[in-house]
Amino acid sequence: MTRPLSTRTENIAASLTVAIDTLAKQMIAEGKDVVSLGAGEPDFPTPRPICDAATRAIADGKTRYTAPVGILEVRKEVCNKLKRDNGLDYAPEQIIMTSGAKHAVFNSLAALVNPGDEIIIPAPYWVTYPELVKWLGGVPKFVPTTIGNKFKMTAEQLQSAITEKTKAILINNPCNPTGSVYSHEELAGLAKVIVKNDIYCISDEVYEYFVYGAQFASIASFDGMAERTIVVNGFSKSHCMTGWRIGYDAAPAPIAKIIGKIQGQATHHPSNIAQYAALEALRMGMGEVDKMRAAFRRRRDFMVSQVSRILGESISAPEGAFYLFAPVAKLYGKKTPAGAAVNSSIDFCKYLLETQGLAIVPGAAFGDDSCVRFSYAASDETLAKACERFENGIKELK
Ligand code: GLU
Repeated sequence: MTRPLSTRTENIAASLTVAIDTLAKQMIAEGKDVVSLGAGEPDFPTPRPICDAATRAIADGKTRYTAPVGILEVRKEVCNKLKRDNGLDYAPEQIIMTSGAKHAVFNSLAALVNPGDEIIIPAPYWVTYPELVKWLGGVPKFVPTTIGNKFKMTAEQLQSAITEKTKAILINNPCNPTGSVYSHEELAGLAKVIVKNDIYCISDEVYEYFVYGAQFASIASFDGMAERTIVVNGFSKSHCMTGWRIGYDAAPAPIAKIIGKIQGQATHHPSNIAQYAALEALRMGMGEVDKMRAAFRRRRDFMVSQVSRILGESISAPEGAFYLFAPVAKLYGKKTPAGAAVNSSIDFCKYLLETQGLAIVPGAAFGDDSCVRFSYAASDETLAKACERFENGIKELK
């Protein structure tokens, strides 16, 4: 065929987190000895009551189409959750059930972005954000943050990034890949700038329950924010439901209507069965989540101490999510035993995977080539093995 395929699609990159996860899983399936801290995927099974609810849904014949926005009962329960956990008032008409939080981010951007619109994204950022913005004809406008500032964007930085073309800011709090969590005061400062400049906000809160010591607040709960914020959330991380693909958008009514329209044409709705599973997740209480949070906190502390020791510098403990974003640029310029130069996070991660069987994600995927990302949503044994391989890999560089 000579006719060109979609040029818009040619300009976006494939997801490196997904690519590394797929490659690691494939290598393991081929019998290779690979330790993967690639994708952020909790190692715990989906809690039993959720699986039982899904089985019941199948037995009860909940196997047909639902409304594009999802089942009313589930959307009502999402409203209860948003009130209980975040102090937010939503009506079920403002909730759209989606095929995971990634899909909810896509819906949100699709509802807002016109060609040429700028979307402000603090960097480091989750791989998917800029690519979706570009795909929709928008322009990602990055605001660089540094390890010294705990990878957090200040209100002043936000103000200076806003132009006539700014449509929205897209934040991930707690943040993948850095684990940073904005304090109440920091969010208040950002909210003031957002309201003053009359822009929208997409707030991806998929890691909200995984905070360690810090206090999570939704930016939608600040003065003037609810009417301009789309809250994105999902069950993949909080309830170990990555493969179920279920999440939601909570949006101001006019935006929710548009998202419902988009979804009605694109996917119709997320799986009926997964929606019943999410209903159980929303009703079952926080016992399982609390247990996971305690495990992740312990694992975070282990990873921070090990990686600090191996790199010979103290790395401060991230306050949320389940990632450690570690600085490795001082290793650049060294050579592998095979004589290849390691000049970037991609070179370094490729070397670790090929020679040590360790899969971690290059910081370049998240807009910061000086770091690499470890996911510590893995068993204690896996983390210990990963650290051993990381250390060996570094020792062998000359
Ligand atoms: N969000 C997870 C990660 O960053 C899962 C993979 C993906 O969707 O990017 O690893």
